[in-house]
Amino acid sequence: MIQLFLPLNFLGFVYREIRRALTDLENMLGLLTRKPAIKDSPDAKPLQLKGGEVRFEQVNFGYQSERLILNNLSFHMAPGTKVAIVGASGAGKSTIARLLYRFYQISQGRILIDGQEISSITLQSLRQAIAIVPQDTVLFNSSIRENIAYAKPDASTAEIEQAIDMAHLRQFITSLPQGDATLVGERGLKVSGGEKQRIAIARAILKGAPILVFDEATSSLDSFSEQAILNAMRDVSRHYTSLVIAHRLSTITDADQILVLEKGVVAEQGTHSQLMAMNGLYTKMWQQQADQNEH
Ligand code: ATP
Repeated sequence: MIQLFLPLNFLGFVYREIRRALTDLENMLGLLTRKPAIKDSPDAKPLQLKGGEVRFEQVNFGYQSERLILNNLSFHMAPGTKVAIVGASGAGKSTIARLLYRFYQISQGRILIDGQEISSITLQSLRQAIAIVPQDTVLFNSSIRENIAYAKPDASTAEIEQAIDMAHLRQFITSLPQGDATLVGERGLKVSGGEKQRIAIARAILKGAPILVFDEATSSLDSFSEQAILNAMRDVSRHYTSLVIAHRLSTITDADQILVLEKGVVAEQGTHSQLMAMNGLYTKMWQQQADQNEH
């Protein structure tokens, strides 16, 4: 019996490890094809978490040394606040999230979490402190419940239920004949982009990290889905320091601070009403989106 049990137990272990690895892959914000050589520094220490404060100080970064993508970028996220980054396609929004997760090494400046430079802390503790809601989420061929819980396989029922509520998934799940046992993924129920992103929000909640990065989907969602995601994000972001990479300006009017990126520099910065009063780039972006929505 034990001869059968040990290999099975080992296979279970391998299966869980592969799933865990996939979580990290998915967290790479679409950079699956590149594997940057970022390692712990020899004297790296685990992050000492306090409130989840984030600070970028005069950060310079380029994927290639001859082309700077972010130029002298500085901003501060107080614990529990919501900061949104907006800007044209290619302005460097997602790059900021990748640098916070330390997929790449910056060439100048500092990035700090709770006062500790991220290059001096272990990657494992850094990435444990950040939950990412990617633009496009991979769903496994298993139940919705397992899909939500896979980042924390030992999550209690109460924790999963709470994540379902906070991610505004309850109504969707109860509308399914098999509820949260419904199979999704390639061979299961096809879920919409908006439902997928709410499943990703529930996963991020379960991770229990103090910093949340939300990469808003670029693909257009119907207005019901968009509103459901917005409601979920409003509820969830109260509990996190959240960085929102925004493509639709209507979703970030409640942010504590909005950074308007243009060619790698912060061209404008403020709340929605402050930026609208400036009548500059942000206002122009609003007008453009309003025109697009009319057509
Ligand atoms: P979008 O709104 O279209 O998602 P973005 O503002 O998030 O755009 P980034 O993805 O941060 O833009 O990219 C910023 C710039 O860096 C772009 O010019 C892009 O082509 C370039 N870039 C992104 N990833 C890489 C990479 N792995 N290697 C080289 N250049 C890259």
